[in-house]
Amino acid sequence: MRRANAAQPDESRILKAPLAVGAGGWGQVPDGWESTEDAGYRKMAGLVAASIQPLRYRDINGTCARLQKGDKCVCGSCWVRDAEAAYRKTVGGVSATAKTE
Ligand SMILES: [Zn+2]
Repeated sequence: MRRANAAQPDESRILKAPLAVGAGGWGQVPDGWESTEDAGYRKMAGLVAASIQPLRYRDINGTCARLQKGDKCVCGSCWVRDAEAAYRKTVGGVSATAKTE
């Protein structure tokens, strides 16, 4: 199970699960964080950023972007682009990760 999201670190489940729904989180942890300004959230966000290893191949979103170029994904996070694009299509929004270099 991936707890850190290399493509979108702020969307990492380890940050979302304990964060209050009103602050954009999932509110799944009792006594979790009230907002992203909470010291605990900020510390964990720093740990998430530090846990993401620099990739040999990377694009502006931090993924290898090879899946979208017809190659084999080496970062394990490229699926997020297609999943998000499909989701945005259903809600009529613009994908934040649709652009590729
Ligand atoms: Zn990839």
